[in-house]
Amino acid sequence: MFRPLLGSYSSVPAAVRAHRPEIPMLCLRPAVATAEAAHFVDVFPGDVLYAVKCNPDPTILRALAAGGIRHFDAASINEVSLVRSVFPEARIHFMHPIKARSAIREAYAEHGVRDFALDRAEELTKILEETGGASDLCLVVRLALGKGNARLDLSGKFGATADDAVLLLRNAVDQGAKVGLSFHVGSQCCDPTAWERALAQADAVARKARVPLDVIDVGGGFPVRYPDMQPPPLEEFVAAIRRGVRRMETTETCALWCEPGRALVAASESLVVQVQSRRGDALYVNDGVYGSLSDAGALLHFRYPCRLIRATARDHQPLQSFSLFGPTCDSLDRMQGPFLLPGDVADGDWVEIGQLGAYGACLRTGFNGFDEAVLVEVLDPPLSAGMLDIDSLVAA
Ligand SMILES: *Cc1c(COP(=O)(O)O)cnc(C)c1O
Repeated sequence: MFRPLLGSYSSVPAAVRAHRPEIPMLCLRPAVATAEAAHFVDVFPGDVLYAVKCNPDPTILRALAAGGIRHFDAASINEVSLVRSVFPEARIHFMHPIKARSAIREAYAEHGVRDFALDRAEELTKILEETGGASDLCLVVRLALGKGNARLDLSGKFGATADDAVLLLRNAVDQGAKVGLSFHVGSQCCDPTAWERALAQADAVARKARVPLDVIDVGGGFPVRYPDMQPPPLEEFVAAIRRGVRRMETTETCALWCEPGRALVAASESLVVQVQSRRGDALYVNDGVYGSLSDAGALLHFRYPCRLIRATARDHQPLQSFSLFGPTCDSLDRMQGPFLLPGDVADGDWVEIGQLGAYGACLRTGFNGFDEAVLVEVLDPPLSAGMLDIDSLVAA
C-alpha cells in the first residue's frame, strides 16, 4: 500500500521537471503536517488524537509526531498495528464502535490499547470478554447526533441514543472501567456552535447517568479551506468547545480529547495529474474518483485549488473553468469542479491539485488497472485555497 519515495525536490514543478510523470504523482509536504499539528496541539486545551484513516502514510504519521501528536485514533486492527509499528510508545485509541472480537483481543493483548469506543451493550460484552474482564479499560460511549450542517454528515451510521448511552455508561462503570462520551459532528463542519450543542447533549446524558466522566471526546470534523469554503479559524472552534465544556457538570480530572483528521493533514499533500486529452473545457487526466480524487466526484463535489505546470512554452491565457474526467471507463469517473486553470491548458501539461492530504491517496483503488502512482517529497509551500499561483514549465 505504501510507495517508496522517489526523492525530495525544492518544489512541485522541480519534481515534475525531473520525472515528467505519466502516472499520478503524490507530493508530500511533511513540514506542513508538522506545522499544522504543532498549531493544533498548541491551541487545543486537551489531548489531540490523530484520526489515522485520513492519511496513514508513515511519513505523515512521523511528521505529525514531530509536531507533538502523541495519540492516535485507529478504527481497524491494521491501523492499530501500523501505528504501533511506527511508534512503540504512542497511546492508541480504538475508536470504531463495532469491532471484530479478534481485533479487540489483539489490540488489548499485543498493542497495549486500553481505550475502546462502543455504542451498544453487545459491544461492551465483547470488549469485556475479549480483554478477560480487564480492570484498566477506558470505555468511550459514542453518542448519536442529529443531522447537522457539516459537509459530510456522519449522523446516520454510529452512535447510541441518549437513553442507551445512560445505560452503557452505568454498566461500564459497574465493570470498573473509566468512562467517556464521544461524538462526531460531521466532517468539514464549518459551524463552531455544532460542538457546543453536542456538548450540551453529552452533558444531559452524563447528568442523567449520574456517572462522573473520565473523558469527553469532541471528535473530528474541524474544517480546512477549499476554494468555495472559508471556515473561521481553529481558535473559534476551540472557544465554542471551551464554552460547551464549562457548562458541563464535569470534575477536575475529566480529560478532554479531540480526533481531528482533515484539519491536521489536508494541506500536507497534493496530487499532480497529467492532461491526456483536452476536449473544450473538459480535461481527461490520469487520475480520478477511483484514485485520489474520490471526494471531487459526483457524491461530494469537493473543489480544490490547482495550478498548471506547462509542458511547453506558449502564450499564457487568463483563467477559466474546467471539469476533469478520470482515466477509468466509468462515466461516474468525473470531477465537475469547476477547476480554475489558464485557458491555454494543453495535452501533456500537468495540473497540481492541492489540499489532498486528507481523504486523497488513502482512498485509491486499483479499479481498471489504474493503481499506479509515484511519491515524492517537496519543500515549496502548499497551494492555498483561494490563492492561485501559476507556474510555467518549459520543455527542455
Ligand atoms: C473520520 C473520523 C474522524 C476524523 O474526522 P475529520 O473530519 O477528518 O476530522 C474522527 N473520529 C472518528 C470517529 C472518525 O470516524
